[in-house]
Amino acid sequence: MQNFVTFSRNVFIPLTRACRNNCAYCGFKREINDKCVLLDKQSVVRLLRRGAASSCTEALFTFGEQPEEVDGFSDRLKKIGFDSFVDYLLECSRIAIKLGLLPHTNAGVLPDTDLLKLKSVNASMGLMLETVANLQAHNDSPGKNPEERIRFIETSGRYQIPFTTGILVGIGEDENDRINSLKVIADIHRRYGHIQEVIIQNFSPKPNTRMSDAPIPSTGVMLRTVSLARDILPPDVAVQVAPNLIHPKILIEHGACDLGGISPVTIDYINPEAAWPNARELADAIGVPLRERLPIYPEYIKAGWYSKEIKPLIDRLADKDGFRKVAFV
Ligand code: SF4
Repeated sequence: MQNFVTFSRNVFIPLTRACRNNCAYCGFKREINDKCVLLDKQSVVRLLRRGAASSCTEALFTFGEQPEEVDGFSDRLKKIGFDSFVDYLLECSRIAIKLGLLPHTNAGVLPDTDLLKLKSVNASMGLMLETVANLQAHNDSPGKNPEERIRFIETSGRYQIPFTTGILVGIGEDENDRINSLKVIADIHRRYGHIQEVIIQNFSPKPNTRMSDAPIPSTGVMLRTVSLARDILPPDVAVQVAPNLIHPKILIEHGACDLGGISPVTIDYINPEAAWPNARELADAIGVPLRERLPIYPEYIKAGWYSKEIKPLIDRLADKDGFRKVAFV
């Protein structure tokens, strides 16, 4: 077992907050007339430059699912000079690479053709499975159909994309659902070998949402879920917890070994109420050394699971073990 805990240093780019889904717990989505529903290129470049200047290695592109299905989105996109959202994302990803940041895209379920296009500019990609259960929280969210999400995670495996997935704890599922979700992820990894990490994320209620009064999962439930994840997932899959949502020390004692992306420059736009801890203070608080990694895990660097387009940057950033060459903790 490793005697350190890993994390990456990222800048969070909420490229669009338009989304075809309506999850009952979502505080991220914005209506089409909201001014932050779509970031223009200048704003993206500004964020990326700040990330690069703060020694980040990861450009985390996270946004609503299939925004082009939202009425009025294509017009907004045209106004900033693009006919297709995936083309805009590709351009922003290439700017990130030029500035020394490795893209990691969390786009929701995408058509296979878009996934293939994005593979060449991403060090890794992600999609939360969330749960295999059909829950009320997802009644109005076609993209949260578990079969759709499983199919997308499998396709990413067939394309050999290093991948992040996870489960969301406290959205109406029970322990059996959590066990079944983890078993599904474990099975996919055994078949395709591409799951680098699984996030065990606790639900955190947001004001003005349908689940604003729903209870948060207890520490006991989180401990048990992390332990289950460690038992069910293959040993080469990291168990990740979010250090801005829950104190990670006790979860690390139960099997968590990664803290995900921590940003020195941007907030967590999904959970804006939860500030990122400072990486050095976090290392002291958990009592375990932190080791900085890239958004692609060392095993996948060693196996060469990345494109020619990002190879020079990976060569520049990774040390001989596949972690970050010049780390800051
Ligand atoms: S898919 Fe994500 S952005 Fe869209 S409504 Fe659900 S939680 Fe919000």
